[in-house]
Amino acid sequence: MTFIPIRALPDPILKQKSKRVRNIDGSVKKLIGDMIETMHAAGGVGLAAPQVGVPWRVIVIGIPGEEDIVLINPKVVRRTGERLVDEGCLSIPGYIGQIKRAMSVRVKGRDLTGKEIRIKATELLAEVLEHEIDHLNGVLYIDYLDSMDKLRKIELAEAQL
Ligand SMILES: [Zn+2]
Repeated sequence: MTFIPIRALPDPILKQKSKRVRNIDGSVKKLIGDMIETMHAAGGVGLAAPQVGVPWRVIVIGIPGEEDIVLINPKVVRRTGERLVDEGCLSIPGYIGQIKRAMSVRVKGRDLTGKEIRIKATELLAEVLEHEIDHLNGVLYIDYLDSMDKLRKIELAEAQL
């Protein structure tokens, strides 16, 4: 597995819509291994493929104390409720901003073997799922801020997604 430098703003790949994965072949598996290593090395709890320069619909999630999650072609199928969260992003280092996220989400996608998986999530996992799936659509959390004045500078990211 290889650490891949994380793309940061204003890299245009972060604003692109990523492509569906048609075959989960060796190159997709290698990408996923590299993404998991990169996410942990960067101290993040989630990473989307465009953040490492690959515009494919692949995300990985690694919440401390829980098993890593790999999702290929993930989709939010349901959002319930609303709450405010302080969110950060590995591609926008040094900042956080307060935005609205769902209280709970239902997501479906495929695992490394191609099997369909469905996840019902709340709290941090729900936020990370929404954040990473947004990356696949070229959407960043700062797109939800009314103004860039709402961004706060921080020393160390509290939640790096
Ligand atoms: Zn992010």
